[in-house]
Amino acid sequence: MSPGCAAGGVYIFPRRPPDSGEGGHEIPPELVEHELKRLENAREECMRDLDALATSLGERLNLRDTRLFECHRMMLDDPLLIGEIRSLVSNGGLNAEGAVHRAAEALRSKFEKMSDQYFRERVLDLDDVERRLLDRLSGTGSDVPVEMPGPAIVVADDLTPSETMRLPHAKVLGIVTDRGSLTSHVALLARALGIPCIAGLGDISSRVSAGERILIDGAEGSVILNPDESAEKAFSSKAEKEREAAAVPQASAGSLRNGGSVGLYVNLHPGMPFDGARKSGARGIGLYRSEYLWIERGEEPGEEEQYKAYHEAAQLARELSPDAPVVIRVLDIGGDKAVAGVGAHEENPFLGNRSIRYLLSRPDVFRRQVRAILRASEGGHVRLMYPMISCVEEVDAANALVDEVKGELVSSGADYAASVRVGAMIEVPAAALVADAIARKVDFLSIGTNDLVQYTLAADRANETVARLYQPTHPAVLKLVRMTIAAAKRRGIPVEVCGESAADPVTGVLWAAFGADALSMSPSYIPAMSKVLAALSREDLAGYASFAEALPDSSAAAETLEALKKRLAALVGVS
Ligand code: PEP
Ligand code: MG
Repeated sequence: MSPGCAAGGVYIFPRRPPDSGEGGHEIPPELVEHELKRLENAREECMRDLDALATSLGERLNLRDTRLFECHRMMLDDPLLIGEIRSLVSNGGLNAEGAVHRAAEALRSKFEKMSDQYFRERVLDLDDVERRLLDRLSGTGSDVPVEMPGPAIVVADDLTPSETMRLPHAKVLGIVTDRGSLTSHVALLARALGIPCIAGLGDISSRVSAGERILIDGAEGSVILNPDESAEKAFSSKAEKEREAAAVPQASAGSLRNGGSVGLYVNLHPGMPFDGARKSGARGIGLYRSEYLWIERGEEPGEEEQYKAYHEAAQLARELSPDAPVVIRVLDIGGDKAVAGVGAHEENPFLGNRSIRYLLSRPDVFRRQVRAILRASEGGHVRLMYPMISCVEEVDAANALVDEVKGELVSSGADYAASVRVGAMIEVPAAALVADAIARKVDFLSIGTNDLVQYTLAADRANETVARLYQPTHPAVLKLVRMTIAAAKRRGIPVEVCGESAADPVTGVLWAAFGADALSMSPSYIPAMSKVLAALSREDLAGYASFAEALPDSSAAAETLEALKKRLAALVGVS
């Protein structure tokens, strides 16, 4: 689901029928090379299309969501699919189209027979990838926008990620589908795009006709077809309340009920439009994901290009408030954020030579980035942050390099702001456990719960099959977050939380209650968080923290979440 109320006419998504194998035919042996070449070109074009799709999502999607397309990239690299297609061309005497279709058919029937839901859900991804390859082979692009006559609610049996992205989002009032679930791609994308969506309604597409009026409530998962006057009235007052709740006056963002405040910052990356941040009332940029410069380029950007991007980010932060910080995280590459040609191929990249480890193994790359960040620090309140720290030695080595670069800048007559602060992300359990020692070496800490949860619970953050294990409210995670915040407090340095959990009122408020000075999130979550904080006093936060601390370690993450939810609802006065 994706929350929100929407009302409008039905637009039936014009789903293209699955490929029927047309365009496939046998070829003589002398054409094999030619067909393999066509196939390879089409595959490379598809890869580029997927990259462009992921980056063009801009501010509307956060990283977790853009990774949906990673699975398609992996399919385009997978020997099970691509190897089979090649072999059908080389040994089976089929042209590229015929081979793509036959290999996809075989894999589809394998997936459909599997008992594991994860694989069954991959059928839609496979359809998407097959369609992409065939479109490229035929010389057309897959990402041709869908034309909608006017604003409407899109109804479909299901939507692939590419289909969802091809919709003209400004005209899409809502989306409802027959198939899918809370975690299916269409729901994830709709949430990231801020479009109300209900997936998995069973047979909705066969119950409606184009143009019929439909009301949907994404949070409730309810649909009303051809509403009468009283249903319309009740619905519009519900929608109005929702709109009011989303509107928060700028100046108050992060303020608590009786004085004091929690910093609310935005997570940004290069190329992301800044309008959302401006309107959100955020007071700084709490996480600037510099790796997007690498992802967009497909290679290391030069120092000047980096300097420009960081300088621009520092200027933008100033638009939020004169003393707004911009926390520039150095290259957090590897794991789920692979860039071809950067770093070596690894069997287990999540535990490999990624992020700060990669940078320390490539001081030339690290040095260029640090120079660019330090030079940009003249433009605003720049902070430099190390990702994926797992031990004190890494902080020492990184600090030594930063000091060396500062020295070089001074001797070459270049300037940097003396106020530049250096901080470490705490996103590996080991780092949380030695947070005291790390806090002694840096000026601030920022807790990256996306990875902290993944590494603590050994549950891949992007794998839907283990999504039920990926729980920020697991008592072990709460403990590590508390330890980290306490370590920062003992040392007297600021501590922030910049993972997704900072945007969820139940956990975000909890981190603030534990003592986090700021929460950093996608701009669209700031108004709602601000509203919750405005209903709470310092005493409420203290009470919420004690309540959480008293919960037994033995309680399951889901129980803890329920208990916290109820407690928070009582505190903010919601029944
Ligand atoms: C995190 O791990 O919580 C984080 C903010 O970093 P990223 O999501 O970019 O890994
Ligand atoms: Mg991380």
